[in-house]
Amino acid sequence: MRQEFDVAIVGAGPVGTALAALLIARRVCAPARVAVIDASFPASAEGADWDLRVFALSRASERLLAACGVWGRLPVTHRLGYERMCVWDAGGTPGGRGSLSFDCADIGEPNLGSIVDGRALKWHCLQAARQAGAVCIEAGLRDVAVDEGAVRMRLADGREIAARLLAAADGARSPSRQLLGIGTRGHAYGADALVMHVHTERPHRNTAWQRFLPSGPLALLPLPDGRSSIVWSVHREKAERLRALDAAAFSSALDEASDGVLGATRADTPLASFALQLQSANVYARERVALLGDAAHVVHPLAGQGLNLGFLDCAALVDVLEQAGQAAAFGDLRVLRRYERWRKSENQPAAVGFDALDRLFSNDDPVLRALRGVGLQAVSRLPFAKRWLAQRALGCRGDVAPFITGPAEP
Ligand SMILES: Cc1cc2nc3c(=O)[nH]c(=O)nc-3n(C[C@H](O)[C@H](O)[C@H](O)COP(=O)(O)OP(=O)(O)OC[C@H]3O[C@@H](n4cnc5c(N)ncnc54)[C@H](O)[C@@H]3O)c2cc1C
Repeated sequence: MRQEFDVAIVGAGPVGTALAALLIARRVCAPARVAVIDASFPASAEGADWDLRVFALSRASERLLAACGVWGRLPVTHRLGYERMCVWDAGGTPGGRGSLSFDCADIGEPNLGSIVDGRALKWHCLQAARQAGAVCIEAGLRDVAVDEGAVRMRLADGREIAARLLAAADGARSPSRQLLGIGTRGHAYGADALVMHVHTERPHRNTAWQRFLPSGPLALLPLPDGRSSIVWSVHREKAERLRALDAAAFSSALDEASDGVLGATRADTPLASFALQLQSANVYARERVALLGDAAHVVHPLAGQGLNLGFLDCAALVDVLEQAGQAAAFGDLRVLRRYERWRKSENQPAAVGFDALDRLFSNDDPVLRALRGVGLQAVSRLPFAKRWLAQRALGCRGDVAPFITGPAEP
């Protein structure tokens, strides 16, 4: 028997499940008219320890998560509002020459955003979708066909699903994007992000630290228990050398790379690696199809914005469908093109900007080094430019859905 829905979301990552919860919370869809399809759903809530996947979320993402009932569920032990950010170039010093610092007090905010445990976030997004009444179907997508009346999907367990709209939120390799023959542009960075939680000799002071090295950026994100989570992007050969080191040798390499900003570090978890790429789907919309999150765009993690952009995709799609009014119009290409134009015009400049930042900072060219020094110095002396950058990073500026720009959530 075929099951029918208004919106079938493929992918139960944070983007797919937040979309399901938001569609129902904003009454764009009735509960049982939304399906979330994934090959496997997370089986447990936040663990005793933090997940190795940690996300820096903007204020806009916090508001979106509040609007779909997720933010309030995230335990305070698994999120932290960070108050300061300090970025500096390899030749400079944190807080001094060749550096740029932001403080939430300068823009009258309680913090600059939140560091959130990935496992807890995924679990509570899924729970919000489930409790809102979305139908969660555990089976991988195998085939898709779009016809005039519906998009029809066949799942790995033989089930058939029909929907007015397929929302593809199935990640960077997006099987639904591939099955639909939608191509992508971009390139691999030939680099890996190394991720681990570390103890540090000195307190992190609720500050996100980032040092730009010729081999790639190193970020130390503060965790509520005093540890920091590192995201160290390095080209592949260096990544292989670092992975081969024992714990003590890795810590010394990390201390050198971090310029000892938090004193000596000590590994507290295994090391995880993620291959980095820049990717953009050629189209975000087709008749009866919309692409969101990493299925639509993958960016360099140096600004910690990939998921934030994905949440803004959710907000834009919900806003566009809300305005379309009737479920019968959800698959209409004229409606979906509005979503595509909106989000491409925000995501593409962001991706190009992060890529340019990586090229500007991840090299040893003396001319570029001088340019970086002048640029950082200039911005750090212009309070209005710093304020603009900090507010932009909060994600509430620019073309974002109205329910995100409203007053801060309780
Ligand atoms: C090192 C690193 C650090 C990062 N840090 C940050 C950060 O600080 N802040 C930030 O905003 N972003 C960050 N990002 C980016 C962020 O990780 C991604 O943008 C985000 O995880 C994408 O979420 P998603 O829901 O679109 O996709 P995913 O989380 O990849 O979810 C895709 C889902 O689709 C499912 N799926 C796949 N195939 C099928 C199929 N055939 N059928 C059904 N389901 C399927 C998968 O099981 C999965 O559940 C970082 C990325 C990296 C690599």
